[in-house]
Amino acid sequence: MVTSQQLEEKTRRCIRCGFCLDACPTFRLTGQETLSPRGRIYLARGWSRGELPADSSMLHALDTCLGCRACETACPSGVEYGSILEMARSGLEAANVRPSLQSNARKYFLQLLTTPSALAASLQAAGLLKGLTAGKMPGFAAKLLSGDPNSNLKLPTAQGKPTVHTLPTVSKAHGENRYRVGILQGCVMRVLFGETNAATVRVLQANGCEVICPGDACCCGALHSHAGMSEDAELRMKNLIDAFQPFMKDIDAIVVNSAGCGSSMKEYGSHQSTDNEYAEKARILSSKVKDITEWLIQIGLVIPSTPRYETVSYHDACHLAHGQKIREQPREILKSLPGINVVEMSESDTCCGSAGIYNVVQPELASQLLERKVSHIRDTGATTIVTGNPGCLAWIKQGVEEAGLKISILHPVDLLDAMYAQDKTQSS
Ligand code: SF4
Ligand code: SF4
Repeated sequence: MVTSQQLEEKTRRCIRCGFCLDACPTFRLTGQETLSPRGRIYLARGWSRGELPADSSMLHALDTCLGCRACETACPSGVEYGSILEMARSGLEAANVRPSLQSNARKYFLQLLTTPSALAASLQAAGLLKGLTAGKMPGFAAKLLSGDPNSNLKLPTAQGKPTVHTLPTVSKAHGENRYRVGILQGCVMRVLFGETNAATVRVLQANGCEVICPGDACCCGALHSHAGMSEDAELRMKNLIDAFQPFMKDIDAIVVNSAGCGSSMKEYGSHQSTDNEYAEKARILSSKVKDITEWLIQIGLVIPSTPRYETVSYHDACHLAHGQKIREQPREILKSLPGINVVEMSESDTCCGSAGIYNVVQPELASQLLERKVSHIRDTGATTIVTGNPGCLAWIKQGVEEAGLKISILHPVDLLDAMYAQDKTQSS
């Protein structure tokens, strides 16, 4: 449990210079100080000192934060905004500031999202009801989660049939076995992006990696952690640490293809630092976590040989660019692919509005951000947008489709996998 003293200490670094304001998407949209990083830190500090009440306006300020951490990138003072946000949200949840009906609805929704069998079953049922719902979330669910029954909340769509995809326990490297890596199959990824998970394994195999998938523990706890549900998050982190334990000594890295999960797992060490049983295990796990693009560049990517002629632009997922400081590796991969013309988009590292469950609980601001992202995408003239996070993939795809644009939205491994497959076809 986070103490108000810990929160207060974290906020002390903020010197209120305001350099972060222009980087903050919600401040840019609203111009309100309380919806800026500086304003939110001020509120959190006031509350931690007992000077401000935990009330609905504080809840609104924190709820509207995307957790995108663009403010961390902009901050010259090294303020750890991401952990301030998680601590403050956790404190507000413990103080029961949120109406209990909404609080329970959020817990239920997160439980559903992070339990693959339940998510797959719900999406299958929703598919059967599609004629009634037109792919939208029913009004009562939208009302409970976002307060607005008429919001345009869409049900997420899966690659193919929504089902629980399971990766093989061991997948041998193709050719020389250069490395042995663990893989996170994720919770949402397993249901919505099973094809991308399978492509990740094939790409690793093609790059000389044997891939180990540690059983059914799949949720890293990031969604709960970002929502301030710290106890649920802890439980998931520990389950995942336990699942990787038997392999930890024998693997060179734990490869993650979801930016949000990777960012969270790289911080397990600091999350668990005071837990006698898990501190060391968490530190070791964090030290091995690599985003898939980071890992492929580190080991030397096998470049496909058959050209694929198209124009591609890259959207920086917040938890890669701001959370993990990974910007160059995905671009390096794209630029190395024969035939691919890479073009930059404006504000490529500004949040698209997906942000975990933000597009569900704050649909209005999320839609404004998506509209802006789609307009920048349109301006690139690209036929494919590449990004490394499931939330961004699904949300941007929805925005592009609604705008009537014929643009593919792919994970970097989807593109690589397709090009390796092209090579195989050429050589057979
Ligand atoms: S968070 Fe950083 S950039 Fe923003 S006001 Fe505080 S010190 Fe300045
Ligand atoms: S995390 Fe993003 S939305 Fe939240 S204060 Fe920082 S820049 Fe603004």
